[in-house]
Amino acid sequence: MGQLLAIEVVYRGVFQKTLAKNITRDIVLAAHNEGKLGISFGRYGDAPERNGIPAKGFAIVANDEQTLEEGMAQYEPKQVDVTVVLDDTLCKGVESWAWYGMLPVHRALKPGGTLIVISLEDAPTLLKSIHRREKPYKLGIVKGITSFSGMWVYKDDHTDVRVLGAIAKALPELFSLKSVEQFINDKLKSSAKVASARLDFERFATVDVKAGQGNPEELFKFDLPGWKDMRGGVSVKGQPQGGPYADPVTKQVGGFRPVRNELFKKYSTRTERPVVNFSTCTKCTLCWLNCPDASFDVAPDGTYDANLKSCCGCGICEDVCPVKDCITMVNESEFHDNNSQWAEFRKDKDAYLKWLETTIQKAEPMEKRSNGFRYRGQYQEQIPEALEIAKKG
Ligand code: SF4
Ligand code: SF4
Repeated sequence: MGQLLAIEVVYRGVFQKTLAKNITRDIVLAAHNEGKLGISFGRYGDAPERNGIPAKGFAIVANDEQTLEEGMAQYEPKQVDVTVVLDDTLCKGVESWAWYGMLPVHRALKPGGTLIVISLEDAPTLLKSIHRREKPYKLGIVKGITSFSGMWVYKDDHTDVRVLGAIAKALPELFSLKSVEQFINDKLKSSAKVASARLDFERFATVDVKAGQGNPEELFKFDLPGWKDMRGGVSVKGQPQGGPYADPVTKQVGGFRPVRNELFKKYSTRTERPVVNFSTCTKCTLCWLNCPDASFDVAPDGTYDANLKSCCGCGICEDVCPVKDCITMVNESEFHDNNSQWAEFRKDKDAYLKWLETTIQKAEPMEKRSNGFRYRGQYQEQIPEALEIAKKG
């Protein structure tokens, strides 16, 4: 068997679907300039993706037809040379339709392979989220704002070619920068994009991540029942309703916390999360009524606590809350746990409000994430800032 190279692109469903598809396609076309053969494909034949859901696209490239066919015989590559992560909040772990439980973002990466993350953060900060593993690897960052767009409207902010430049540096046996430039000139016909690819090729660097280095958190997982363990007949287990719970300070029981799916945790779809100012909440119920995922717990004092093991980060609660700055969506990379905000508020109100203020202030100068396409001209407005950051690196 000849040489087979595999690249996976981990992305947020729908918001980054076109970007991921373009990157994997362009990898194959650039490699083609060196006489190699390849194929790009997504995990799904159709598009069962939902907003924010972690998903993957793949490119596999070989020197000869037989090797490529052998590579194509697998449903998806089990091991990859490079993993590209298009949103740095995916570094916290990914849970998709396509598998069970939460998986580390570098699960398929070969020992010594390269993890490329689009991020404004540095490597030590990302490693607070990226889980430990037994095999060492390399971590490289393409400095940039997370590129979100839609299924039908593409934001052409050069993230695609910047990733190609970084891959040419990380995996020279796949293709050279010259082949990338040739592809961009031939197919994309943009000298500005050639310059972006070249810049990221020149400055792309990696750090060595040792075995055991990174986030020590144990990822959510569960055992799948075997055929013999399954219940007889066809039945769907009903979900219990839930009920009141205790205030951690007064121990008074009240409110309502619904029972949620114990097997599917939606929070890996989240790229932003709501933070709630319980001292200004008027208990109007609008967030609770409008949350599409029933993610609000009614706290024993009658305020509403976004349950972060359930919240998918859609931002509707921020939009409907009538009280100014009572709910604020904040970049998910600011957080490293899913603890109840209300419990923290009850334990020490002043400390919580200080934390709230600092967290929002700290996050504000960072990128404001935009979940999708809201108005005509939105992406044209966002592209200059993205290109400016790309230029600075
Ligand atoms: S962001 Fe708000 S509305 Fe959306 S799922 Fe989370 S709690 Fe519910
Ligand atoms: S919408 Fe705002 S004010 Fe109303 S209950 Fe929710 S957090 Fe409180």
